[in-house]
Amino acid sequence: MSRLVVLGATGSIGRQTLEVADRLGLEVAAIAAASASDHLLELAAAYPEARVGVASATSAERESLTETLAERVLFGREALVELATTPGATIVNGIVGVAGLPASVAALDAGNRLALANKESLVAGGEVVLAACDRGGGTLVPVDSEHSAIHQCLVGEEAESVRRLILSASGGPFLGRTSAELETVTVDEALDHPTWNMGPRITVDSATLMNKAFEVIEAHHLFGVDYDRIDVVIHPQSIVHSLVEFVDGSLKAHLGEPDMRVPIQYAITEPARAPGTLAPFDLAGRTLSFEEPDRDVFRCLDLGYAAGRSGGSAPAVLNAADEVAVQAFLERRIGFASIAVIVERTLGDVEHRTPTSVEDVLDVDREARAVANGHIGGAC
Ligand code: NAD
Ligand code: MG
Repeated sequence: MSRLVVLGATGSIGRQTLEVADRLGLEVAAIAAASASDHLLELAAAYPEARVGVASATSAERESLTETLAERVLFGREALVELATTPGATIVNGIVGVAGLPASVAALDAGNRLALANKESLVAGGEVVLAACDRGGGTLVPVDSEHSAIHQCLVGEEAESVRRLILSASGGPFLGRTSAELETVTVDEALDHPTWNMGPRITVDSATLMNKAFEVIEAHHLFGVDYDRIDVVIHPQSIVHSLVEFVDGSLKAHLGEPDMRVPIQYAITEPARAPGTLAPFDLAGRTLSFEEPDRDVFRCLDLGYAAGRSGGSAPAVLNAADEVAVQAFLERRIGFASIAVIVERTLGDVEHRTPTSVEDVLDVDREARAVANGHIGGAC
């Protein structure tokens, strides 16, 4: 088993990855985060051999970190790219947002194994990421629980045997609400996810179902299945993590407690499995239920399908507009229902093109952010 580079080490995925690494006795070759937070400094002390990447730091922070960490510390966005190319490493990308894209591409270009939690890499830059995989010969393994589930259901199966992929969704905290009720929900309610404990952006995305829309696009790229053969089902208990239906009518599902340490660990050890910490699963007394998503109330789901089908720059615009709108919602500058409106308007306003490089994707991202911010100004 190789050594690990943990990008986004201070986040929800990063913390759980380090827990898995410690339990399995894996070497942590590098850690990185957005800023020089106390949390990152504690990690730098806990992993004294690890290189430390800081994406953004003031000159005073640079000076003081260089004093304490000497040549172990690297700064700037290039630092993430450099760490992602650490020879022979498994790169766990737990950065949030499109900021994770350059490191994903660099890891695959360098022929590394990329355990990808940063779904925005595939949403915004799917073709660019897959091209890097082909070019560099790296291995792309999903961390997202639904995609880890599908990946595991597909072991030993032929691509032609697959009829469709079925992504399960908890439905989030607003399952069953009407459009009118969504107008008045608060930030605290949106952050109170019923089954998963995650960072703020993905938690809000789970409440709008944009997270599921991103996962549909992610699945399209990871498994090479067209959008007509990717379905979404609401499953409030989050025990069935996703399913594959085969041409003979069989379905395979992946079940377990909702605990991200399981798919994180599998992405690191696959195809082998290592012991985990969960107690044996007790099926008796469990009720698993499934229902159709309410596409009229949770409009982000179909906005995502439409952007995925348009391809080219549309999914990058979808992601950028959503990042901006979710941030504005978290800062209480717009209401919850405005997130879908801003994303839809931004999708309509940014000229369609076909990004072929990381820079192209980031150009689209910048333009879409500016347009989305304009719409937010108008919505205030
Ligand atoms: P989080 O907000 O808890 O953590 C984000 C991490 O990224 C932090 O370490 C932060 O310092 C770092 N970061 C943010 N901006 C950065 C930048 N510009 N440059 C470098 N680092 C930066 O987020 P999270 O919940 O851990 O999610 C991380 C990714 O994993 C997201 O793409 C999310 O969609 C995906 N994911 C998360 C979960 C989960 O359970 N948390 C599940 C599936 C997928
Ligand atoms: Mg998921």
